[in-house]
Amino acid sequence: MKALEKSKPEPGLWMTRAPVPEIGPDDVLIRINKTGICGTDVHIWNWDDWARKTVPVPLITGHEFAGEIVEVGRNVEDLRVGQRCSGEGHLIGKQSRQSRAGKFHLDPETRGIGVNEQGAFAEYLRLPAFNVVPLPDDIPDDIGAILDPLGNAVHTALSFDLVGEDVLITGAGPIGIMAAAVARHVGARHVVITDVNQQRLDLAAKVVDVVPVNVARQELREVEGALKMREGFDVGLEMSGNQAALDQMVETLVMGGRIALLGIPPGKSPVDWSRIVFKAITIKGVYGREIFETWYKMIAMLQNGLDVSGVITHRFGIDDFEAGFSAMRSGNSGKVVLDWTG
Ligand code: NAD
Ligand code: ZN
Repeated sequence: MKALEKSKPEPGLWMTRAPVPEIGPDDVLIRINKTGICGTDVHIWNWDDWARKTVPVPLITGHEFAGEIVEVGRNVEDLRVGQRCSGEGHLIGKQSRQSRAGKFHLDPETRGIGVNEQGAFAEYLRLPAFNVVPLPDDIPDDIGAILDPLGNAVHTALSFDLVGEDVLITGAGPIGIMAAAVARHVGARHVVITDVNQQRLDLAAKVVDVVPVNVARQELREVEGALKMREGFDVGLEMSGNQAALDQMVETLVMGGRIALLGIPPGKSPVDWSRIVFKAITIKGVYGREIFETWYKMIAMLQNGLDVSGVITHRFGIDDFEAGFSAMRSGNSGKVVLDWTG
């Protein structure tokens, strides 16, 4: 089968031929139709410090996918050949205290497909049946291929009650934009999204009913005034990984405000803790998606009017994967989806 592989410990990914994976009794084999390129895949392409420390070579990359089940293991009872699906790319253990409490997304033994284990950028993927999420007919493969990052957005956005709240999202990358769509969908009052990249802010405003603010050019306080917010934002969703964005969020939040942190800072970064203490701010770190509560919620929202399709800005056949990666690496795209069916 065709597979997009990290074949050498240097920048790039290479299209290779690999054997179709053999499945075990508790697995399914999925024929991949569409895949999404994630920021993580760009790190792996660039072969940065994180990738060098984390990713074994050779490895088939990719973890955002939609496809169809073509084979089921002998112990698998509730899935069938021909079923369209996406799936959770975090392979979890079942022995930790967190797993045994049903908090699968907090299992410390988690391994990721396309990061630690063979991934989804291939014609076929082996996946434990446990990880499969069937796709309803009204969710197309394009959207199925971006449920993983939509799950990050949904899990972060639903960290706190947003109904009637004024929400600040820092970072208008694909996940920030999808989080804005979720905040709107669940009934936030004002949703403001910041970035320093005007193209991304333009995309955000095109896709969602949000107030885009380029913080390189405009003061966030002015926007708060214009929107007649009395005491600041109620909830902050940090989706840039940028220190300045977090500082600005702490500054513009109300007393007792709440912050969910998804963005990953590049290293240790200083935080003005006294400001956080005196403002009585609650901070929650967010990792991945809840397995499988986030999946249920996002599919239900998609079936009830949540529309994130506009965040997909580029589509390529798999033979043009290099063009897909260069769109992603430009930093100006939304989601890039690759089609494996051609
Ligand atoms: P992305 O890199 O595409 O988007 C981040 C955006 O932040 C960019 O558009 C950038 O211009 C913007 N930005 C930079 N400085 C800023 C500033 N001062 N103020 C406002 N915006 C600023 O990332 P993404 O794919 O949308 O993911 C969002 C973040 O979430 C990333 O940090 C990513 O690493 C992280 N992430 C975390 C998890 C997790 O499980 N915790 C999972 C997926 C992604
Ligand atoms: Zn991803």
